[in-house]
Parts: sequence; structure tokens; C-alpha cells
Amino acid sequence: METKYIFVTGGVVSSLGKGIISSSLARLLLSRGYSVTIQKFDPYINIDPGTLNPYEHGECYVTVDGHEADLDLGHYERFTNIQTTRANNVTTGRIYQSVIDKERRGDYLGKTVQIIPHITDEIKRNVKALGNTGKFDFVITEIGGTVGDIESTPFLEAVRQLKWELGKNALCIHLTYVPFLKAAKELKTKPTQHSVKMLQAVGIQPDILVLRTEVEIPAGMRRKVAQFCNVDPRAVIQSLDAPSIYEVPLLMHAQGLDDMVIELTGSEVRSQHADLEAWNNFLRRLREAKEVVNIGLVGKYVELQDAYKSISEALLQAATYCDRKLNLVYIHSEKLTEADVDEKLAPMDGVIIAPGFGQRGIEGKFVALKWCREHNMPTFGICLGMQCMVIEYARDVLGMTDANSTEMDPKTTHNVIDLMDEQKSISNMGGTMRLGAYDCRLKPGSIPAEAYGTEMVKERHRHRFEFNHEYRRAFEEAGMKCVGENPETGLVEVVQVPELDWFVGTQYHPEYSSTVLSPNPLFISFMKAALKRAEKKEK
Ligand code: GLN
Repeated sequence: METKYIFVTGGVVSSLGKGIISSSLARLLLSRGYSVTIQKFDPYINIDPGTLNPYEHGECYVTVDGHEADLDLGHYERFTNIQTTRANNVTTGRIYQSVIDKERRGDYLGKTVQIIPHITDEIKRNVKALGNTGKFDFVITEIGGTVGDIESTPFLEAVRQLKWELGKNALCIHLTYVPFLKAAKELKTKPTQHSVKMLQAVGIQPDILVLRTEVEIPAGMRRKVAQFCNVDPRAVIQSLDAPSIYEVPLLMHAQGLDDMVIELTGSEVRSQHADLEAWNNFLRRLREAKEVVNIGLVGKYVELQDAYKSISEALLQAATYCDRKLNLVYIHSEKLTEADVDEKLAPMDGVIIAPGFGQRGIEGKFVALKWCREHNMPTFGICLGMQCMVIEYARDVLGMTDANSTEMDPKTTHNVIDLMDEQKSISNMGGTMRLGAYDCRLKPGSIPAEAYGTEMVKERHRHRFEFNHEYRRAFEEAGMKCVGENPETGLVEVVQVPELDWFVGTQYHPEYSSTVLSPNPLFISFMKAALKRAEKKEK
């Protein structure tokens, strides 16, 4: 089958969940027997979101090949169970960089380099790059931003050209918002009509409209939208608020989104039936879980919950597969002190010490870790959280009172976390961390080895600093064991205090590989430990 290109655009307002709609469609097409990939085009000028503040753009997701990506790629992986790469996330910055590089090399010699055709051609080339591998029946391309933004204009122009060139093999799904005016008790479709007009003004006729709404949109109203916007009435689909984002594929399937896409692209029908058995099993457990598990997440970006998206989703998946309802409590590390740590952490069944950068909020993490260690609380340190575990242990157990990471205190006499020599000369901030998936060999019998059921794993990284080898022996003798290491470099990947029930820190980020259909084993193991503690408390 020829590769089909589905473009997902958005209008009226941002944050409508284009990523969730794209992911849901991908899940449905997979369930109908097609191969699918999703990519995101972001209109900002940053080369990648790696240097963006989590408050601005939420979490930075990391792909196996070490690309710092938009958090939507996390949704794509969690919904589809298929890994993404650098090719799945392109920004305006990357497009311009590559056009400017070509200009300097002389590739356009004699020509004036312009947005049309040079930038748009480069966008088109990137849109088709994954399709040209021949591996996918469908390539879903999400265009970031909203129609009418200055930044997204070149992307929309590229979509217009591609739709023209590809004919039936391309399709545009436009996502809009239908507000409900409480005072008038009325749903309003005017913003949708205007948004579609704006899309038509740049030459794109949407084929399917997905209307985000908080209340049911009557069929008559959907028909009206269809008439105004030149689309088939069956192709006007509502996306009602759902109790969980993972319900969205079912809501879309019930309205025939996958059928419409297959029909409009003239795709051969692989399977009349959507195989959603495993997906439904997860959802059933999610809906039926009544008993609560309380997990505290200690971090400094708690105001914006998207900053810890992959962790909160990995926890939700783990809790669901343990048949528990997740109560995730965000605990601000800047505000946590010895005076209130007991009150804040004692009600928890497990505690996560979050990743992060810089000094701010770090002392609160030490306070939490000391309390957790002394109360045998199931504790999971991730990346900076693991580094804090090491520092706190050095200070309190090994008696190195000024132990620190050289990220926080370059002059510390006990640099238990430090830069590796080869990283010391790096001056660029963007894309220069240890990024992407690396092998890790686990110690037989350790918690992670038992959890994964294997001694060799591959997990993703995003950090500069490392456990300092010079202190390894001292830590091991004092009771903190290095139970995971990189087989080639010997870098410490996982620490554990075996004396405690579940006290594990990973230099890598296991949350990035956790998906709905294959939850991360270490999160499951942590969740089981939390349940054990909860049960003990009940007795
Ligand atoms: N700031 C730490 C480092 O760069 C940890 C990074 C993280 O938690 N992702 O090594």
C-alpha cells in the first residue's frame, strides 16, 4: 500500500490535545492492522526543546537515539508502543538550520533563498522522510501551534502543496474548540467556522473536523458545521472531555474516525475489526481500581504538572496494572523542611525524588531523602533524584558533610557527583548531555535485576553529571551498592540500599520507556513495594 499522510492541524485555541487525537488515531490504525508513525512539527525557532524551561513547554522527552523532543512524542510512544527518533520531531529552527547550511555549502548557488520554495521544500522533505523509508502505511504529522499563527504559515503552505501533490494519499484533520456559554446555555460553532475559513484561506480544505467540547454536541449542530465547512457530515466528530486520555481512542472509534480515514484515503481494508483487547483490558482495570495508592513526587517544577508528564504517566500505568487508583501528590521541594517533612511524607506509600537541574529546591530533596531512609519508605530517585540520594547518603552516613555535586558546588571537597573528564571541555548548552539509550548491566539479585527479569537493559539518559567512581568503594562499604553499570564505560547507572525495603536510584530515566501496553518494570516493582507498605499500615 502507498504511504498515506495524515496532517493534524489545530484552530481557535491551543492546548486542545492534537497530540492525543494523533496518538488515538495511530492506536486505532494499528488496531486495524496498519503500520503507523507519528511526527511533530513545532513552529518555534529553538533547534530542539532541550534548552526550554519546563515551565514554558512542559517536560522534555528523550528518544532512544538521544533527541531532546517535544512531550507529545511521549504520548505517541505511550499510545502506540512504537519508539520514535530524531526524525519524528522537527522545529522551524532545524528547518532553517539545514537550509542555511545548504546555502553556505553552495547548494543553491545563484538562487535567492526564500521561504517559498526553499523553506517549504525542506519542510516537505522532512514530512516525507519517514514515509520514504517504506516502513509505514500511515505517517501522521501533527503541526504545532494554531492556524493563523505567523510561525506556522510555512508549515501550512507545505501541507497545502503536499495535499495537492499527493491527492487521495493525503488528508487533513482539523481540531477546533466548541465553547459552551453557560449564561446562554448554548454551544457555539462560530469559532470553528472561522477557524476552518482561515485554513481554507491558506488553501487547505480539511477532510475531517474534530470538535473539542465539554458537553455533547447535538447531531443537528454537527450537520450544520459540515455544511458550513464543506465536509461530509460523518466526518464531523466530537471529542468530549474524557475521564482519561486513554479513553479517547475508543471515543474516536465509536464515531468511526478510523473508518473515515481508511475510506477517504482509499486504503485497502486490512481488518474490519479493531483489535483493542489489550487496550480495553488496561482501561477496564483503570476504571475498576477503587483502592488508592498515595505516591509523593518531590520536585521543584510542581506548578506545571506537564513538567513531570512521563513520570506521572508511568506511575499511572504501574498503579493500574496493580489494580490501584493513583493519588499522585506533588510536593514542592523548595518548601519542604525538617519541620513539615513528617506531616507531608508519612501519609505516602511511596516517594519519587524527581529529576531536575540546578541548585534550587535541592535541600528539600535531601530532607525528604533522609526522612525516607530513616522510615524505610519505598523511594525511587530518578536522575538528579538518584544523584541527591548519593549526596545525602554521603553527608549523613559517610560523614562527608559538604558532599555535593559539582553542578551545585564546584568547590566541594567531596565531589561524589561530578563531570566526567570528556565533558569538562563542553561549552554549548544545547544537545551536549549524555542523551539517549545506553546499556546497563544489573547485579544479579538486586531489585532492578529482579524487576526487569534480566541483567541487561537499555534505558534513556539526559544528564551531564555522573556518580564519581573514586567514592564507589566507600559507598559500597557503608551500605549503598552500585547495582547497575554501563558495561563499556563502567559508569554507575543504578544504586540501591539493600538494607531498606525499596530504596533505588537510577541515573537513567525509566519513565521514558513506559507505555500503556508495556509499563516499565521498575515502576511496577516500586508500585508493588508501595502497596506492601500500604497494606502494613492498614493492619
Ligand atoms: N542536573 C543533573 C545532571 O545534569 C541531572 C539531570 C536530570 O535530572 N535530568 O547530571
